[in-house]
Amino acid sequence: MKHVIVGNGVAGVTAARGIVRADPGAQVHIFGFEPYPYYRRPLLWEFIAGQIERHAVFFRPPDWYAGRGIQLHLGVEVTGLDPVGHRLYLEVRGGRPASARSVEYDRLLLATGGRPFVPSCEGVEKDGVFTLRTLDDALTIKACAQEGSRAIVIGGGLLGLETARALHTTGLKVTVIEFFPHLLPRQLDAQGAEVLQSLLEAQGLKIVTGGKTEAILGDGRAKGVRLQDNRVIAGEMVIFSTGIRSEVALALAAGLEVNRGIVVNERLQTSADDIFAAGDAAEFEGRVYGIIPAAIEQARVAATNMVAPGSDTYAGTLPTTTLKVAGAELTSVGESVAQAEESDQLRRVDLAAGRYRKLVLRDGRIVGAISLNDRKRAGLITRLIEQGADVSAYANRLLDDDFDLKSLLQ
Ligand SMILES: Cc1cc2nc3c(=O)[nH]c(=O)nc-3n(C[C@H](O)[C@H](O)[C@H](O)COP(=O)(O)OP(=O)(O)OC[C@H]3O[C@@H](n4cnc5c(N)ncnc54)[C@H](O)[C@@H]3O)c2cc1C
Repeated sequence: MKHVIVGNGVAGVTAARGIVRADPGAQVHIFGFEPYPYYRRPLLWEFIAGQIERHAVFFRPPDWYAGRGIQLHLGVEVTGLDPVGHRLYLEVRGGRPASARSVEYDRLLLATGGRPFVPSCEGVEKDGVFTLRTLDDALTIKACAQEGSRAIVIGGGLLGLETARALHTTGLKVTVIEFFPHLLPRQLDAQGAEVLQSLLEAQGLKIVTGGKTEAILGDGRAKGVRLQDNRVIAGEMVIFSTGIRSEVALALAAGLEVNRGIVVNERLQTSADDIFAAGDAAEFEGRVYGIIPAAIEQARVAATNMVAPGSDTYAGTLPTTTLKVAGAELTSVGESVAQAEESDQLRRVDLAAGRYRKLVLRDGRIVGAISLNDRKRAGLITRLIEQGADVSAYANRLLDDDFDLKSLLQ
């Protein structure tokens, strides 16, 4: 059986491993556009910050693949897919001759990931304007950070704040501009964001919330940004961290069902026979997760079903975000910003200690939580959510320091 995987990110590599484990005799080929073997994207921040060397971002030595019978084809773009003929069309980067212009598959996994989304804004084409997704992006950003003294990060979500922290570590003055009225709008409520913002400002980051970037200023090269309210913020580097879009071009052109991502069912199957999708490229029950735990879980289920069709199902991933910024540790799990009218919300704020706790309860069960600088409890609460434990009898004590959350675990 010949399994072909498009994409050499965490989803592609996890699936390849799953396939060879389940069927050691399988032929597995991975085609990846980037010229590098799999590396961990979260380590790009540490690389930019100068805390690790470039080689440390790579997860497995190149011979790991060959040692497991996985054939890795790097610097190859898959440009076409014929679902009926079970064939992929290839283009080799850098003008090198392709050893084969097309390849057949028995089962195919589309693990094509995502690409940064940049909102429409005047001047985005100027030098000094970046996005961060790949190692090549990180190399360029790092080189540029050594030349300037001020950076602007547009987007106060998880990725934006971590990028800001990395640049700040290199000695740059960094301003974060968030469009919404508070930081981490997808994971935090206003009170939690206030605690986080004061921690970040105390560390030297400048935060502007409710700011819509209208134009990148400068003559050919970025010198700063202008906001809609005419405020001007100076900076020689501008990094957009304003979300991702699933990489769906291949699937779309091949006529597969595509919405925000490549639509998959609980077997991670697309609308075409023998084609599966996983990771940032895939949409399950209307949702593109965009996080590593989901990519790994989906890739494992896809791999199992590629080897033995119909043998495993995926039921979704509990979204968990952990952010470590300048000493602050934030965990947001599940429906942490659910609407008040459909749930009970319990909160405790301690600005002086930089601590914030929030639980979201529905029908007597915890469905979401936010913990700032409260790691031990965050782990216990995640398990309570996963177990769907009935906590209704203890609702008024759940946030107390001396309440034993562990006793509620099944
Ligand atoms: C800087 C950074 C830090 C992050 N930190 C975290 C974190 O701490 N926690 C977390 O949960 N998530 C984090 N994420 C998000 C996480 O990296 C993604 O969810 C994850 O990479 C998704 O994996 P994937 O395999 O689906 O896609 P990707 O990692 O995007 O890999 C897809 C690969 O497919 C290749 N490809 C696409 N189309 C083709 C084609 N036609 N032919 C050949 N190759 C193709 C792409 O070049 C790419 O290399 C971070 C992301 C970034 C950018």
